[in-house]
Amino acid sequence: MELAKRVQTLTPSSTLAITAKANELKSQGHDVIGLGAGEPDFNTPEHILDAAKNAMDKGHTKYTPSGGIKQLKQAIVEKFENDQGLTYDPDQVIVTTGAKHALYTLFQVLLNDGDEVIVPAPYWVSYPEQIKLAGGNPVIVSAQEENHFKLTPEQLEQSITDRTKAVIINSPSNPTGMVYSKEELTALGEVCNRKDIMIVSDEIYETLIYGGVSHTSIAQLSEELKERTVIINGVSKSHAMTGWRIGYAAGSKKVIKAMTNLASHSTSNPTTVAQYAALAAYTSSQEEVMTMKEAFSQRLEKLYEWVTAIPGITCVKPQGAFYLFPNVSEAVQLTGFDSVDDWVKGILEEEKVALVPGSGFGADQNVRLSYATSLDQLEEAAKRIHRFVEKHQ
Ligand code: PLP
Repeated sequence: MELAKRVQTLTPSSTLAITAKANELKSQGHDVIGLGAGEPDFNTPEHILDAAKNAMDKGHTKYTPSGGIKQLKQAIVEKFENDQGLTYDPDQVIVTTGAKHALYTLFQVLLNDGDEVIVPAPYWVSYPEQIKLAGGNPVIVSAQEENHFKLTPEQLEQSITDRTKAVIINSPSNPTGMVYSKEELTALGEVCNRKDIMIVSDEIYETLIYGGVSHTSIAQLSEELKERTVIINGVSKSHAMTGWRIGYAAGSKKVIKAMTNLASHSTSNPTTVAQYAALAAYTSSQEEVMTMKEAFSQRLEKLYEWVTAIPGITCVKPQGAFYLFPNVSEAVQLTGFDSVDDWVKGILEEEKVALVPGSGFGADQNVRLSYATSLDQLEEAAKRIHRFVEKHQ
């Protein structure tokens, strides 16, 4: 039996693959430090767990409307208004099974065969695959390290063809941790308006932003930009709720209605209990969100210092998310390896530290280190990588 063409070139997410390999070594008794994680190491806050238990006790265990319960949509609308000054109606919001499925559903409703979506590299691993699954063509545009891995308006303009439907902006970014400024977004927005393309603005790391930098959504810049933008967000990273699978999209009524229709035939609705948990996340104290952000911020400072002290490693300092994306090309050369992929394998085998090679993110000179783990573990991991480089020099 031959599988459908659409899945024949599909590869498993490289971030999940490295985590699986690290877990395998761990189960064999090795002391592995995993820096591959794409999720906060904190537990979901207690009051959110209580809200979920309460929801179950009250019998909230049945189907809900496809686009999510009314109260949660309303809470999301209020969050947009309070945090970003963005006004949406509840029917401009769909609650989804994680932000990942919001993106998946969005590409399904936006793209016809051969439509192009501009994906700035380094990119989150699922964008190109999801675009292809919807019949579209991901147009990968390499954002340069000297531009802090950010797409320039010139690059955007040069990449637009008459098949271009949309561009993805992910700020703060996974894997680079870079944050677009208001000025940079204004310049990109001008091109999108002039060339009449849509914007997919993935803001899942919105709350994790450090050093006095603030988050701007391109949709905040003008009514015209808001109309051509679909914002993607969720509670996974902000509230340490990755396993609950609650994300959402906000955009024009037309797009959201189509997404909701599609969801009604695919997921039916995001898990009911998880929706009540997300409702508590947005309608109660945000103290834990701030505590987690503070912890990430401290780790960033330390890890950045330790990693950039390793010979042959340079790094643009991130401003958000929980990743470092250093350039290791010189360290790879110094240690006599042929590629970053082989170097990463060497570190996992010899020093039992799991990093994610940049190749999966469209940047083969870099590696991604997640600092969603304790400071002690981060310090030990940096020591081991340092030792590895010195040993092979
Ligand atoms: N977008 C980016 C950039 C991410 O890094 C992730 C998760 O790793 C997601 C979206 C998906 O998040 P969720 O857990 O809500 O599906």
